[in-house]
Amino acid sequence: MRNPVSEAAVPPAPDRLKFTGSFTQQAPLPQASIDGALDVLMSSRLHRYNTVEGDAGVTARLEETVATWQGRKYCLAVTSGGQAIQIALRAAGVRPGDAVLVNAFTLAPVPGAIEAVGGRAVLVETGDDLRPDLHDLETRVDASGARFLLLSHMRGHAPDMGRLMALADRLGLTVIEDCAHSMGGWVGGVRSGNHGRVACFSSQTYKHVNSGEGGFLVSDDPDLMARATILSGSYMLYARHGASPPEDAFRAVREVTPNLSARMDALRAAVILPQIAGIDHNVAEWNRRHDALADAFRGANRVALPGALPGELRVGSSFQFRVPDFGPEDCARLVRLAAEDGVELKWFGAPEPHGFTSTHKSWRYLEDQSLPNADRVLATLFDMRLPLTFSVEDCRLIGRILLACIEDVATGARKSAAQLSDMGRD
Ligand SMILES: *Cc1c(COP(=O)(O)O)cnc(C)c1O
Repeated sequence: MRNPVSEAAVPPAPDRLKFTGSFTQQAPLPQASIDGALDVLMSSRLHRYNTVEGDAGVTARLEETVATWQGRKYCLAVTSGGQAIQIALRAAGVRPGDAVLVNAFTLAPVPGAIEAVGGRAVLVETGDDLRPDLHDLETRVDASGARFLLLSHMRGHAPDMGRLMALADRLGLTVIEDCAHSMGGWVGGVRSGNHGRVACFSSQTYKHVNSGEGGFLVSDDPDLMARATILSGSYMLYARHGASPPEDAFRAVREVTPNLSARMDALRAAVILPQIAGIDHNVAEWNRRHDALADAFRGANRVALPGALPGELRVGSSFQFRVPDFGPEDCARLVRLAAEDGVELKWFGAPEPHGFTSTHKSWRYLEDQSLPNADRVLATLFDMRLPLTFSVEDCRLIGRILLACIEDVATGARKSAAQLSDMGRD
């Protein structure tokens, strides 16, 4: 609600740029997704195993399609990205009490998945480039004895994967990749998700394919994927999957692996299937938008952008920048000024978790951990979605608005409406 004092106090500024697009409006679904979903609804066969003779069903077809697209032998479709991670951790051998390394810069479902399987999250420091710090990783392996690394490619900022995998091999770490933000990306000529033992993806609305909720695991490891398939709730119907290991991989695990009931249903699979072929095109479109925004910041010396690694194709579905010289009040003011101009920024330095954004300080079910560098980096880190419904021109405009807001905060030139209303109240 608006305070009448603030309405009166904000000077009309006809020359002030404003953005009116929606940061939460994703691209329209392909018509084939809508048609496929209607076919499933008309058939009333919504369960993945409720198929007709001679048809493996759309969930199995989706698994086959994703495995081929990703370039992995096996794929399993499940109910969410978070479930994919939980199942991957268990299938990789994490047992209650085991230490699991994970980068500190990630989102809440990631430490949540470790907690769900009874693991102990050991957070790894974040570099100024938002990538996990590999020296710190090694130190924490020594201190914790961890044998597992859940590597979250948070906002697509993966480490040098050649170096990371060499380090993991030397330290005896099993690497589980969280590719919720890197689906469709490439690192060192390899598709993101094809470095570790197993990789997890999400088809939640804000990720790179959209079915509301949903997730996948991909791997070349038949034993791990046999365990994962039983864990997902396959009953003894695993032979009806689209990209699962051969029957003999199941023999040793089928009766000793619990059923956690996390299957993907046919409706979601039908919505996702036609989107897979479009991912690579969408990645290019996201990157055109991301580059336009990055160009707008070029030469802005108050702003630090995370750099790219050689051979990296990051997916620019979101944009991150830091304003290293800003204090907490400046940062909060920037969020307010940008919002007034129609730009929705998320800030990782906020004292309280907000919306989808939180940090290790609010994951208080974890042991307290000292992460001075992550804390310093996140204190001035801003984050923004770039849905494909924005045009390249929109992104240029957003860049200009943000630069103006940053300048206004730095010079104290413009008070936000909220501040003015605070002043009115004094
Ligand atoms: C969204 C997300 C997940 C979990 O995916 P859901 O499908 O929402 O459960 C995991 N990791 C990261 C980094 C995410 O952003």
